[in-house]
Amino acid sequence: MKDGSGRKIEYLRVSVTDKCNLRCAYCMPKDGICSLSHGEILTFEEIVRLTRILADLGVRRVRLTGGEPTVRRDFTSLVREISLIHGIEEVVMTSNGLLLEEMAPALWEAGLKGVNISIDALDEEVYKEITGSCGVKKALGAMEKCLALGMKVKLNCVPVRGVNEEQLLPLAMLTKSYPVDVRFIELMPLGCGAAFKGIPSEEIKGILSAELKLKEDPCKEGVKGPATYVRGEGFPGRIGFISPMTGKFCESCNRIRLTSDGFLKLCLYSSKGIPLRDLLRGGADDGKLKAAVAGAALQKPEGHFFGEEDPEREVKRMNEIGG
Ligand code: SAM
Ligand code: SF4
Repeated sequence: MKDGSGRKIEYLRVSVTDKCNLRCAYCMPKDGICSLSHGEILTFEEIVRLTRILADLGVRRVRLTGGEPTVRRDFTSLVREISLIHGIEEVVMTSNGLLLEEMAPALWEAGLKGVNISIDALDEEVYKEITGSCGVKKALGAMEKCLALGMKVKLNCVPVRGVNEEQLLPLAMLTKSYPVDVRFIELMPLGCGAAFKGIPSEEIKGILSAELKLKEDPCKEGVKGPATYVRGEGFPGRIGFISPMTGKFCESCNRIRLTSDGFLKLCLYSSKGIPLRDLLRGGADDGKLKAAVAGAALQKPEGHFFGEEDPEREVKRMNEIGG
């Protein structure tokens, strides 16, 4: 399936719930969130059916996200069912890792190939300031467990000005001890994120280079997205930078998103898309759903325009969209 700009759409991110067991300040408000009701979110059966249709249209890779995907009951069985869909080559997930250590063996057995664990600090106090709870030990325990099982593991950190600047080097240093990719993601001014200031990738590279001898990493192994990588000399892991704000990568975007309430989102930045849940529950057959998806893909925006006035700009929070 191609979009209106000729980009091949092969990557689907599914938000399986808008609920979360943390409250990262740039993602979700501390209190007063109104979660979707049980009837509003897609059932597993609906997610699997839509993924099958998308696989028929050329989607090859699925990332399960949220909210926090591990808080959805029986999440492992969803992983198993999606892994079995003809055409889907890889199922991975993004998680805060709090419940993951225990769940990892079953998820691995169900077909999960990799996990991105979000961890914005190694210091519990700073971690708690950002997320509202302690979780460093649990997230690192999950990392070790997933590595031991043979999963591909990446750690994601969103650097926030005045909040976790001191944590960036310690996080990057994990690549000296573990074969993981530690990636720094520029904060996007979406939802709660608009109230914070991110740190540009080049500035982070400068901070790290002052302490570490870093080399561009020419190895493209496992590089399926927009990250660029460097490596500390002799380190088993890599340090990655994802720069949606200072290094726009929209021309190579190959992804679409399904929100937990079944809206097919064409771009993180824009509210454009179609309410697939309504079509699905209205009795649409596979042919009609396929035509609707392929037609919507043609409307995928060419790129994001953060910082500019745009009536189609997304107003949903990241926990609803899935990041
Ligand atoms: N709960 C899971 C987690 O935290 O990994 C999955 C969902 S979370 C929305 C997915 C990713 O989006 C996390 O790595 C989080 O740090 C990132 N994120 C949330 N809000 C963001 C923002 N405004 N800008 C950039 N990344 C953001
Ligand atoms: Fe929850 Fe992930 Fe959002 Fe943090 S970033 S509040 S862990 S959904």
